[in-house]
Amino acid sequence: MNIRISRLHFPVTTLGPGRRIGVWFQGCSIRCSGCISVDTWAPAGGETQVDAVLAQLRAWLPDADGFTISGGEPFDQPEALLALLRGLRRLSAGDILVYSGHAHERLADVLATADGLIDALISGPFDMAAPQTLMLRGSDNQRLHCLTPLGRQRFSALPRRAKAFDVMFDDDGSVWFAGIPSRGDFQRLRELLADQGHHVQTSAARARDRRDRNQQS
Ligand code: SF4
Repeated sequence: MNIRISRLHFPVTTLGPGRRIGVWFQGCSIRCSGCISVDTWAPAGGETQVDAVLAQLRAWLPDADGFTISGGEPFDQPEALLALLRGLRRLSAGDILVYSGHAHERLADVLATADGLIDALISGPFDMAAPQTLMLRGSDNQRLHCLTPLGRQRFSALPRRAKAFDVMFDDDGSVWFAGIPSRGDFQRLRELLADQGHHVQTSAARARDRRDRNQQS
């Protein structure tokens, strides 16, 4: 089964309880204003197979408490998402949290097929104007659904934590953050680094440059 993936990472500690395996899908048709994951919007790129993803995750499984599947928009690839969820369930007893920018009601068909495979779902688009007070959500309009007993056990009473990010370094020197930033956090970080003489190019800016170049050619 084909799947488009932006990134895999372990451990992720800021998107759900415990040490988690993070899976970011490539491609998002929703395109919320203010999205911090613009680099995952392009519908092309990151092509691989679900079995290859599962094989890559296997080494992390003994130390993982759960999985966080985000993007991009995982439900833009419903068949691949279902195949991945079935594979994860087969391999691990860890909980599975999935993010979607779609309203819960729009996901009814896939959720019915995925019955028991998703423990917790966070649904709804990012709204730049909404307050940001809820755990695991970028904006308070987004809803948390605990869909299984394991999901209720792990997600219904999330302890309040201070804002934190997982920081990942790629071989080419790129730095990635996982977590839920407050409004303006990345802009402040960028200004701080620029003040110290560092050149900072965000993935959002890089994606915008690429889009502009494509429009000109
Ligand atoms: S659904 Fe998620 S990835 Fe897609 S635009 Fe909205 S915030 Fe960004």
